[in-house]
Amino acid sequence: MEREGKKINTIKREEEKCVFCSTCARACPTQAIVVEKVFEGEVVVDHDTCTGCGSCVEICPTRAMHMPRSAPWEKPAKVESNPETCIFCGACEHVCPVDAIEVRREKVNYSRGEERSWTKTWEKIFREL
Ligand code: SF4
Ligand code: SF4
Repeated sequence: MEREGKKINTIKREEEKCVFCSTCARACPTQAIVVEKVFEGEVVVDHDTCTGCGSCVEICPTRAMHMPRSAPWEKPAKVESNPETCIFCGACEHVCPVDAIEVRREKVNYSRGEERSWTKTWEKIFREL
């Protein structure tokens, strides 16, 4: 829509900043946003090996990794990843000091779009997967 030559009612997404966490899609009251994540998969935590150090929670860029607890005075349960917000970046797997995490990327959703600087970077990463 245009008013006095100026565009209004537009949404601009900074492609180089968006990590496809889908927070916007879940927050939208009218389900007007659909986010197709780059990766699909699973994050598996070996709870017997996990020491609860919290490094994975701290490094997770989308806050998908968390330590659930029902009340502030209760001891947190073992870490787990929220599949809705996880982008399968692998940061938690790399940071875990006891190798308790495995990030399994099972599918890559990628279609070549406009040529941008980050497109080449993504392609390079996908080829190495
Ligand atoms: S792979 Fe790990 S660090 Fe990356 S978004 Fe998922 S839970 Fe967070
Ligand atoms: S980084 Fe590893 S040991 Fe530390 S809380 Fe996460 S899974 Fe557990």
